[in-house]
Amino acid sequence: MVYTLSFLENQYAQLTESVLSRSGLEGAAYLLCNRSVTDREYKYLVKEIVPVEDKHYITRTATSLKIDSSSYVNVTKKAKLSGLSVIFVHSHPEGFKEFSPQDNIQEEKLHSFFDVRLPGTLNGSLVLSSNNTYAGRVWVSRQWEKISRIRVIGKQFRFLDNSNDEDAIPEFFARQVLVFGPEIQKLLKRLHIGVIGAGGTGSAVIEQLTRLGVGEISVFDGDSLEKSNVSRVYGSKVSRKRRNKAYVAKLNIDKIGLPTISNSYTNYITQESIAKKLRDCDLVFGCTDNQLSRAILTQLSLRYFIPLIDVAVAINSDENGLIRDITGRVTTFFPSEACLFCRRRINSRTIQLETLSKAERRVLAEQRYAPALATDDPAVIMFTTAVSSQAISELFHRLTLFVGEDRVSTEVLLFFDQTRIRTNRETPKSDCVCQNTKYWGRGDSRDYLGMTWPDSNNS
Ligand SMILES: [Zn+2]
Ligand SMILES: [Zn+2]
Repeated sequence: MVYTLSFLENQYAQLTESVLSRSGLEGAAYLLCNRSVTDREYKYLVKEIVPVEDKHYITRTATSLKIDSSSYVNVTKKAKLSGLSVIFVHSHPEGFKEFSPQDNIQEEKLHSFFDVRLPGTLNGSLVLSSNNTYAGRVWVSRQWEKISRIRVIGKQFRFLDNSNDEDAIPEFFARQVLVFGPEIQKLLKRLHIGVIGAGGTGSAVIEQLTRLGVGEISVFDGDSLEKSNVSRVYGSKVSRKRRNKAYVAKLNIDKIGLPTISNSYTNYITQESIAKKLRDCDLVFGCTDNQLSRAILTQLSLRYFIPLIDVAVAINSDENGLIRDITGRVTTFFPSEACLFCRRRINSRTIQLETLSKAERRVLAEQRYAPALATDDPAVIMFTTAVSSQAISELFHRLTLFVGEDRVSTEVLLFFDQTRIRTNRETPKSDCVCQNTKYWGRGDSRDYLGMTWPDSNNS
């Protein structure tokens, strides 16, 4: 099992401020966390930061700390009421990176207390020695297990990993290392990226992620290839028609021969058991052509702090079939930004229509309650590929801030018919589902992603 901890950027800033701001003095705080538990990863999602109050420090020096028990008794009560886990955090301002022998003695006592008061949850500890260095651990069956990753999601996506990868970077990546440096190459290798939809845009995203050296890629798609896909789907072949698109994408990743681990899920993420697999991804690309899937990815991002880069191309023509406009869109979403609903990229009416059968849709269309059923959307390879490349650039910006540290835009629009690019940022709508902070970092719940799932036996 891998243990990790995910923060939003401002939460992490609040934590470092509360434990590291008194120069030369240790500081402490508690993290109250929700959880995401899969067979691979036990992930804490930070809900609230509770700094230790000044009055509760019994001793506070550069190398030691003693805290009044009423401080953690109060926090434990609060955690119990909301079913949250507690991570006790303290700082080592003099830079000692590990837990000290004294920490080990004190924390065993503290965690024995948590075990009694918070049965059924796993709790942990963290020591911060500077903004980016830490040691973390979880108390599991009276033993310590290491916290190996801290994710900080915001303007930049940071993955602070406690792993020592001494492996040389393979020669394959020599040219791109000249651009972004060796650290980013090592980070790519440690990332697990989900791609939802393996058609025109998705297959081009997958091709690039693989060649860039991403460590693990999971592809989700319930569709099979049709003849008309060969004109733009990477990895498709005339001889591979009728094969599942996610499976073909996996074959294509494997065929390239780089050390990327590939997984394919040959069903739609509108099926709960498939959507649950998304929790193992560090980041997801939305390359789907339906709005319900985009709504699912929005909820995933809100509740699990998994950033979403959503990709789309729209080609509109007039009634005579003449092209009116060709627009590519790359929208980045994580909690605190405007979601796809806020931006009117998706809406509940269309999502509702998508859940109807074709026959039901036809009836509504005949009565003019709904637009006619769409036939295949127009699509051309140079547009689907270009917007996919823009999405990959966006990923690199979020990892490295190469476009500039002050950039605030969260959407890039490519107006192909005007050879123009525009960026924007929108203020979230206060009444939108994405602004209900109760659900930020909610993690696992009985109603997964807050949705009612249809019977899981269909595909
Ligand atoms: Zn210490
Ligand atoms: Zn919203």
